Amino acid sequence: MSREEFDLCVIGGGINGAAVARDAALRGLSVALVEAGDFAGATSSRSSKLIHGGFRYLPQWHFLLVYHALRERERLRHRTAPHLVRPIRFLFPVYKGRGFGRLTMDVGLWLYDIFARTPWSERHRILSSKAALQREPALATDNLTGAALYYDAWADDARLTLENVLDAGMHRAAVANYVLVEGLAKNSDRIEAVRVRDVVNDERLEIHAHHYVNAAGPWVDDIRRMDDPGARPSVRLTKGVHLVFPRRALPVHEPIVLSDEADRIVFVMPHDRYVLVGTTDTDFSGDRRAVAADRNDIKYLLKVLGDGLPKITLTEDDIASSFAGLRALVVSGDGKSPSAVPREETILESASGMVSVAGGKLTTHREIAEKVVDRLLKKLGRSAGRSPTRTEPLPGAREIEGDDDSNTAFAGDTARFLEARYGTRARLVARIVAERPELAAPLAPDCPAIGAEVIHAIRNEMAHCVADFLVRRTSLIWRYPLEAEAAAPAVARIMASELGWDSEREDAEVSGFVSDLKRRRAA
Ligand code: FAD
Repeated sequence: MSREEFDLCVIGGGINGAAVARDAALRGLSVALVEAGDFAGATSSRSSKLIHGGFRYLPQWHFLLVYHALRERERLRHRTAPHLVRPIRFLFPVYKGRGFGRLTMDVGLWLYDIFARTPWSERHRILSSKAALQREPALATDNLTGAALYYDAWADDARLTLENVLDAGMHRAAVANYVLVEGLAKNSDRIEAVRVRDVVNDERLEIHAHHYVNAAGPWVDDIRRMDDPGARPSVRLTKGVHLVFPRRALPVHEPIVLSDEADRIVFVMPHDRYVLVGTTDTDFSGDRRAVAADRNDIKYLLKVLGDGLPKITLTEDDIASSFAGLRALVVSGDGKSPSAVPREETILESASGMVSVAGGKLTTHREIAEKVVDRLLKKLGRSAGRSPTRTEPLPGAREIEGDDDSNTAFAGDTARFLEARYGTRARLVARIVAERPELAAPLAPDCPAIGAEVIHAIRNEMAHCVADFLVRRTSLIWRYPLEAEAAAPAVARIMASELGWDSEREDAEVSGFVSDLKRRRAA
C-alpha cells in the first residue's frame, strides 16, 4: 500500500466504504481501502439486518426513499446476493385508536408491493383479528382489529459488507483491516497522503492517492476535521439497541412488528433457536467504540414486548446477548425526534476535494456507492456510464474457479448453514475438509459452524482473532450466543495453530470473547 500511488483511497470498511471500494475497483480504478478495526466492526454489523423499503417512511411521504430501497432490495435478493438476502414475512397487528388503521396499512402495503413489483404469491394480505390470533396467540387482544402479513427481506449485514470487500480485492483493490488512519499529509489545500498505523504490527506508513473518500461512519466528522479543523458537525448520532432472547423464553411463531406508545415500531425476529428484538433510537454522545445496551434501553424493549405480547413474561435474566450501533443521521437542526429524521445518506466534499459519505441504509449501499464513484469519475475526467454493480453478483453468488463437487462432502444442516453463509464459496470450506477431515466436526455441541470455517476465515476472509470469526464472519454472537461461548476455546485452538499464537494469546482470546459476551448479557 505504501509503494503504490492509487486513484482512490477509501477510509472505513463498513458497508459504505466497502461498497465504494468495490464499485470503484469494478470500474477500473486502482483502490486502497483501510479499516481501523475489522470490516463491519462498527455500525455495519449492528443493524436490524433488514433489507427493506422501510414501510414506516410511507406515512412520512418519503416515497422516493422507499422506492429506491425496494428496488435495491429486489436487486440484491434476486440478482446480486441471493445467497445472503432472504425473504422474511412479518405479521403487523393493527389496533383501534393506535398507529396505522387497517385501511391505511392496506393502501401503504399496496404501494410497497407495487414499488417492489412483488409477485402475487408474496403480496401482502390483511387478516381479521381472529386470523391474526390464530397465527400468533400471544398478541395483545384489547382493541385488536386485525393484522397485515407482508414480505420484506433480511441479510447478514457483516457478511454483506465482507463480500463487498472481498470483491473489491478480487478486482485488484488493496484492502486491509486493522489499519487506522491517524492523520493526513497536506500540501496547502491538497491531501497528499493518509498517515496510517498498522495496529497488528504497530507500523506506520503513508498511503498516496489522487482522491480520498471518507466513509468512517460515526467517526466521519473526526476525519473531516483532520482535513479542515474548522469543519462543522455533519451528522447526529443516535443509538439503536437489539436484544437476543432464547426462543423458549420468547416463543413467538413468526416475525412480528410491534409498536410502542408513540407508534415507533420494534421488530421481533425469530431466527432458529433465538429471537432478535429491536431497536431503540436515542441521541448518543458517549464513547463510540464502547456503545452498548443500558438499563433504559432494556426497560424500553421489555415494555414494548410486555405490552405487545402480554402472555409472555420476560425479564433481564432472559437476555442471551445484545448489541448496539450508532446511526449517523443528517444534521437537520430543526429539533426533530431521532425517528423522524429521514435515513438518507450525507455526501459532502471539502475544499481539498475529500468526499465524505455517511448514513443511508444498509439496503441502499450499492446505490450510494454508485453516486460517490460517479462523482469521482467526473473529477477524473472519465465517463461514468452504468456501474457494473447493478448486475454483477457478489462473490458468493458467482461460480468459483476450479469448481468441483467437493461441496457434496456436506449434508443436511451443515450444508444448509454453509450455503447460507458462503453461497458458492462453501466449496472453499469443503476443500479444507478434504485436506483435514477432522475439521468437518461442529466447533461445539449443537453449534452450527465447523472447524474448517475457522481456517477458511483466516486464509480467505482476513480474520485475525476469535471475535472476527464469532462476531462478524459467522454472527454466532447473536445468532447462537450460548453455542458461540461453548465454541470459543475450539476456535482459539485452531487459530493458535494456524497463526502461531502462544498459549497466553490463546487464553486471552477466549477470555476476551467470553467477557464481551457476558457484558452483552448483563448490559
Ligand atoms: P460503519 O459501519 O460504522 O463503518 C465505518 C467504519 O469506519 C467503521 O468500521 C470504523 O471502524 C471505520 N473507521 C472510523 N474511523 C477510522 C479511521 N480513523 N481509520 C480507519 N477506519 C476508520 N439499514 C438497513 O438498511 N436496514 C436495517 O435494518 C438497519 N438497521 C439499523 C439498525 C441500527 C441500530 C443502526 C444503527 C443502523 C441501521 N441501519 C439499517 C443503517 C445501516 O446499518 C447503516 O446505514 C450502515 O451500516 C452505515 O455504514 P457505514 O459504512 O457508513 O458505517
